Amino acid sequence: MKHHAHTAYLLLGSNLGDRVVTLHRALVALAGKAGRLVAVSGVYETAAWGQEAQPAFLNQAVQLNTDLAPEQLLAACQQIEADLGRERLELWGPRTLDVDILFYDDLVLDTPALTIPHPRLPERLFALMPLADIATTYVHPQLGKSVADLLADCPDKLPVEPWLGDL
Ligand code: ATP
Ligand code: CA
Ligand code: CA
Repeated sequence: MKHHAHTAYLLLGSNLGDRVVTLHRALVALAGKAGRLVAVSGVYETAAWGQEAQPAFLNQAVQLNTDLAPEQLLAACQQIEADLGRERLELWGPRTLDVDILFYDDLVLDTPALTIPHPRLPERLFALMPLADIATTYVHPQLGKSVADLLADCPDKLPVEPWLGDL
């Protein structure tokens, strides 16, 4: 069996088009071009954050084992977003697919193109709830808090519900 050098946690989001089909296609594409899917969270329906007047999202977190470097992984995620019809219109606006890197090993990185851990993770219930399905004990390398603790301390009050539609 092939072993991959790195563990990344990603958050997928979709609020345009057939959201659940898009999430599924994104998983297939990640497995095809980015690495091995080790764990996948449940699907959550979440109220839009930041720009609230837009359709609800479906969000799902993924653990991916990969040989890609962080910048290569970001490029792969952005390619998958483009392949699945993403258009960049406005910050935090509606999109067919968003793929964010939440964690990459214990890496702390802050460049213009890439910040890891994702800087807004602690204030986003829509990211922490799915992430807690697959990574409760994972410790945030800057904050020293587990995902479970981040979830317990998260001030975000926007609704996040297990999605009950057909998969
Ligand atoms: P947010 O980052 O607040 O969730 P967004 O996902 O809507 O906002 P995008 O328009 O998808 O933002 O991405 C803007 C830029 O963010 C990307 O081009 C990328 O260079 C940068 N970026 C920085 N850190 C990350 C990260 N950890 N994961 C994904 N993109 C990142
Ligand atoms: Ca995002
Ligand atoms: Ca993004």
